Amino acid sequence: MLIGVPLETAAGETRVAVTPETAKKLVAQGHQVKVQAGAGLAASVPDAAYEAAGATLTDRNGALGAELVLKVQRPSADELALMKPGAALVGMLNPFDKDGLAALAAAGLSSFALEAAPRTTRAQSMDVLSSQANIAGYKAVIMAADRYGKFFPMLMTAAGTVKAAKVVILGVGVAGLQAIATAKRLGATIEASDVRPSVKEQVESLGAKFIDVPYETAEEKEAAEGVGGYARPMPPSWLERQKAEVAKRVAAADVVISTALIPGRAAPVLITEEMVKAMKPGSVIVDIAAGKGPGGSDGNCPLTEAGRTVVKHGVTIVGETNLPALVAADASALYARNVLDFLKLVLPKDGGALTIPADDDIVAACLVTQGGAVLRA
Ligand code: NAD
Repeated sequence: MLIGVPLETAAGETRVAVTPETAKKLVAQGHQVKVQAGAGLAASVPDAAYEAAGATLTDRNGALGAELVLKVQRPSADELALMKPGAALVGMLNPFDKDGLAALAAAGLSSFALEAAPRTTRAQSMDVLSSQANIAGYKAVIMAADRYGKFFPMLMTAAGTVKAAKVVILGVGVAGLQAIATAKRLGATIEASDVRPSVKEQVESLGAKFIDVPYETAEEKEAAEGVGGYARPMPPSWLERQKAEVAKRVAAADVVISTALIPGRAAPVLITEEMVKAMKPGSVIVDIAAGKGPGGSDGNCPLTEAGRTVVKHGVTIVGETNLPALVAADASALYARNVLDFLKLVLPKDGGALTIPADDDIVAACLVTQGGAVLRA
């Protein structure tokens, strides 16, 4: 099968969907891999490395005109115009964006949105949300440490003692756990909050303290259990109590990393303007939820500006929307392996054409458009 790998054109996107490692494996399976010249450069992959892996270089039309196109982000309207009706597309296609899906369907593509894969053991090796969130959690802490004008670790020096930075993590999914681990390695003291009670043990096992907000009604408990491992909106009663607990911790914090998301909905507001006003001058918030809501501009703090770093009430608020793209080489390496693992479900190993198995739950969950129709509500 002819597989195309275009250069990503979204602003700030540095990742690439196929690396020489995964290209080599696809070529070994008899597929022809055509990579747009320069597609890997921003991820530190030179064209020659793709050629050495058995891929051939092509131009934009050649990559987008393939039978199967592998991308990081959803194609733009210009890119869609270059794709062939009936072709297949694999990428992070934002399955909650109805207009975006309608455009893919109108282009006649069989599209697979990898973010829609179920959070099951079998799907773990192709879980792009996890591989990229892990990187986002790491990079958020590194960015916070860079913008914070003090040390993270406690230091005892001849010139006196420096206290360890206090870090608060809001939302302890994959990104939050990695943020805890990274802040811990840098020597900070850490407290973390999440709606899901199962997270407490994970937080404590990483050496951080869980901000307990007990559930007082059956409704609160049921909502907290979430669905499919994901959070659901919590009742206002619980959110009020959480806000009070979080407000105390945020006021004392040097750094806040917020990651709280609910699939398909606006990110919950966890850091209000009042809370920011109560923070110490020089504190830093990194809002990983920035730009992640269905409208593309929500964050966990209403003062966050998606895509920008701003200083409000003496607090630096980082609204970077694509943290994995700032660790382009590793983000691409992990993403490309996720893509390759997904392709094992739909590509034969003899170079033949893509087939869509009728009974595979992962493929069924990811298939968002086919035959001109959107397959997701
Ligand atoms: P996510 O990015 O959807 O959300 C980030 C975190 O924000 C979640 O932990 C969520 O509970 C939390 N959150 C939402 N509203 C909140 C609020 N009001 N206050 C505080 N926190 C709030 O999450 P994710 O990283 O994609 O992980 C989702 C789940 O999937 C987790 O349970 C994770 O362990 C699980 N998971 C399972 C697998 C697997 O089994 N294969 C793989 C990866 C993740």
